[in-house]
Amino acid sequence: IFQRSLYGGTWALLHKGFSRWGIEATVAQGVDLASLSACLRPNTRLVYLETPSNPLLGITNIQEITAWAKQHNLLTVIDNTFATPILQKPLTLGCDVVMHSATKYLSGHSDLCAGAVVGDAASVAKIYEMCKILGGSLNAVDVALLERSMKTLSVRVLQQSQNALTLAQRLQQHPKVRDVFYPGLETHPGHEIAKQQMQGGFGGMLSFAIDPDRDALRVQQELQWIAPVMSLGGVETTICSPYLTSHAGLSAEERAEEGIHEHVLRLSVGIEDVDDLWKDLERALSSEDALKSPTEPADMGDQWKAFEQDLSK
Ligand SMILES: *Cc1c(COP(=O)(O)O)cnc(C)c1O
Repeated sequence: IFQRSLYGGTWALLHKGFSRWGIEATVAQGVDLASLSACLRPNTRLVYLETPSNPLLGITNIQEITAWAKQHNLLTVIDNTFATPILQKPLTLGCDVVMHSATKYLSGHSDLCAGAVVGDAASVAKIYEMCKILGGSLNAVDVALLERSMKTLSVRVLQQSQNALTLAQRLQQHPKVRDVFYPGLETHPGHEIAKQQMQGGFGGMLSFAIDPDRDALRVQQELQWIAPVMSLGGVETTICSPYLTSHAGLSAEERAEEGIHEHVLRLSVGIEDVDDLWKDLERALSSEDALKSPTEPADMGDQWKAFEQDLSK
């Protein structure tokens, strides 16, 4: 059982990869216990969570789900990439296995590609065995970079969280911003749960929807310091349109259901001076040049078709 609202690659894996290995997966209607438990079947083995989720920062109540999963002998696996181990410790909330894209915050400098799995010795041993067989081994340089980066993980993440909260609050006041998605805001529907299960901050990721009279792509182009980048978690602030990039592989209906429309922009907030970041955002949001017709996702569709053809071979 997968919760609703997932990283695009996870979504692709369960829709396009699992059936080849005889794994059945159900995506729940929501992220709450009622929708997850409605998916329970006699052959259910595992519940998969992601919180805060990508790209709209939805919050799942981890402890409530893991308590239910234990009653039904299900393993709980969580993607903890957005929260980082500094802000959220899922093993203490009952999860069995925690995954991180180390490419993001653990690396923190946008210069390597890695992943981490954390859990009890028996689970990790099984995963490590498969990892060796499948060949996903890190090279020595990336290992050294990752070890060096992790020494500053806590200072980076705490600063990023503080900057993100400030930007979220200011964006909320901006006349050209319709909606801000950040669990640190009291208006966020998951704020109370996030407060209980996260500590030290609410993370460096936030999304916002701009006024429909502006073109999100043009707003991005107007930014001078904040770079348009699809990855996230680095010390420098970056921005992307999930509609045009990470979630372009979803169908139009799926994107609409998730609330990922053309006016949504996702910020990965860095450690810079927050007033510099705000100046850049404010200028781009107010720019007259951003008053253009929206851009449709184009290229990714063809890439997905090619990917699907590859898989079917
Ligand atoms: C980027 C990301 C991944 C995938 O990580 P890679 O290191 O790029 O393979 C998984 N989950 C989340 C939430 C991510 O942001």
